[in-house]
Amino acid sequence: MHYTTRELPKLKRIALVAHDHMKQELLGWSERRIDILKTHQLYATGTTGSLLQKTLGLPVKCLLSGPMGGDQQLGAKIAEGEVDLLIFFWDPMNAVPHDPDVKALLRLAAVWNIPIATNISTADFIIDSMHIDKTYHTRIPDYQGYLVERTK
Ligand code: PGA
Repeated sequence: MHYTTRELPKLKRIALVAHDHMKQELLGWSERRIDILKTHQLYATGTTGSLLQKTLGLPVKCLLSGPMGGDQQLGAKIAEGEVDLLIFFWDPMNAVPHDPDVKALLRLAAVWNIPIATNISTADFIIDSMHIDKTYHTRIPDYQGYLVERTK
C-alpha cells in the first residue's frame, strides 16, 4: 500500500457515538469538555446526537440511529474525508444488534488513520492534544495509486 497525506483542518469535524449503556458517560464527558467541543463541528448518530443537542445546546449534525445505519453513514464519511476525529464509546459489556457495523466503523477509522477515542481518558487526551485546534497532516492510503496498481 502506498500512502499520501491529508490535512486535518483547524476546525475539526468530530463524530460522537455512544451505545445505550454508555450514553450517560458520553453526555457527562461532553458537558465537561463543552468549551473545546463548541469550537468544532459536531456529528453524531441519531440518538446520541439528539441527546447531545439537548444537553449541550450546540448544533449537531445527526445521522441515522446506529442500528438503523448511522454507524455505516459515519464510516462512509470517514472514508470520504469528511470526519476528522471519532469519539466512540462502544459498550464493552453488552452485545448490540449492529455489531458488524460497529466493527466496520472501527475498521474504517483505522484504515483512514483518524484519531479514535473509545473511552473517557483517551477522549481527554485527544481533546487536550496540541493538534486539536491546528492543522495536522495525517498519513492516509493513496487511493489513486491503489487504483492504478489494481487496474494495471
Ligand atoms: P444511537 O446509535 O446514537 O442512535 O443510539 C449509536 C450506536 O451506534 O449504537
